[in-house]
Amino acid sequence: MTIAAQGAFAPSTRIDSFAATALVDRPTLVLDIDRVEAQYHALKVGLGFAHIHYAVKANPTREIIERLVNIGSHFDAASRGEIELCLSQGAEPGHISFGNTIKKPADIAFAHHVGVTLFAADAGEELEKIAENAPGAEVYIRVLVENSEADWPLSRKFGCRASMVPDLFARAIELGLVPVGLSFHVGSQTRRAEMWAPVLDSVAGIWRDLQDRGYAPTLLNIGGGFPAYYGDPVDTPTTYASRVMGLVTERFGQVARVMAEPGRGMVAEAGAILAEVVLVSKKSEDDTHRWVYLDIGRFSGLAETEGEAIRYQIATPRDFDSFGPCILAGPSCDSADVLYEKRPIMLPLTLKAGDKVVIRNTGAYTSSYSSVGFNGFPPLDVIVL
Ligand SMILES: *Cc1c(COP(=O)(O)O)cnc(C)c1O
Repeated sequence: MTIAAQGAFAPSTRIDSFAATALVDRPTLVLDIDRVEAQYHALKVGLGFAHIHYAVKANPTREIIERLVNIGSHFDAASRGEIELCLSQGAEPGHISFGNTIKKPADIAFAHHVGVTLFAADAGEELEKIAENAPGAEVYIRVLVENSEADWPLSRKFGCRASMVPDLFARAIELGLVPVGLSFHVGSQTRRAEMWAPVLDSVAGIWRDLQDRGYAPTLLNIGGGFPAYYGDPVDTPTTYASRVMGLVTERFGQVARVMAEPGRGMVAEAGAILAEVVLVSKKSEDDTHRWVYLDIGRFSGLAETEGEAIRYQIATPRDFDSFGPCILAGPSCDSADVLYEKRPIMLPLTLKAGDKVVIRNTGAYTSSYSSVGFNGFPPLDVIVL
């Protein structure tokens, strides 16, 4: 099978050559770890003095963590399990931040015990848990950003409003913690660097307010949001990251410590899913749209098609034929398992059951979102090249 190149981007040639000959009988994510390394270096050049803390949740495959430890990345962990994973691959505890603002006391105690010293919080109760289970730790306060223009905004679940930040700084000090600064997340898949400007404006206002009140914040954690290529043009990682850092410097001047937590931007383009067409059908003779059903869907790895937010590029062995609009769906017996319908996708008219397809740039938020076996369909398999 040959897969025609699509679009103006350069997919991993290692993944393409693997896909051309691979015989897999279930949906499989193929990862090119060298590509992860290339993304890391490209982001690093653009981010300059900022430390990269890879957001492990984007893809916790062991080999990715191992490689990133070897090339000097730091890590942002969301759970005890992710901290253990990073440590097992040789990460230094001082290079791991516990960035989830919603933590169980026992997990905070575990992190403290193994030497993690930097924690996120957005509420007084969380500070109390940290003070009790990781006495003397450094904390940064996660602030809510309201003006995200991201394709996958992170909504209202994390962060507190600006007005609460000074009180949380005071409370942290009362509790014997060291409040070192602020964090935020601009929203995942923020396609253009300029979209950061209004968010950075509001965070800079909070930062200056803290300084006016006599605090001296030293750590600015700019979170993730670095985009991947899904069909709409995006800047290279280096250009994007250096533009973001330019916007940061304009507003914050010299900051002692800047952290960035790319997840998607580090791993999405390092992976592709090999899948198969299970059925092509029409609901009536005069239906203008075909329905194309794949052996992978919303519950087996493509969770980010929710709301049709992330639109993956799909390569097929028939890309030299003419194309027509399709509704794309997964295999499970759940009516929510429709991937693209509001905006149908274009696929070759000759596509049929049994055709192998490659879903591009799916290295982020796929294997980690895949159910263990909803409807009895196997979870996404992972192969590391
Ligand atoms: C998910 C997450 C990230 C990664 O976001 P991307 O948009 O994938 O880069 C970074 N930081 C925190 C705190 C997160 O929760």
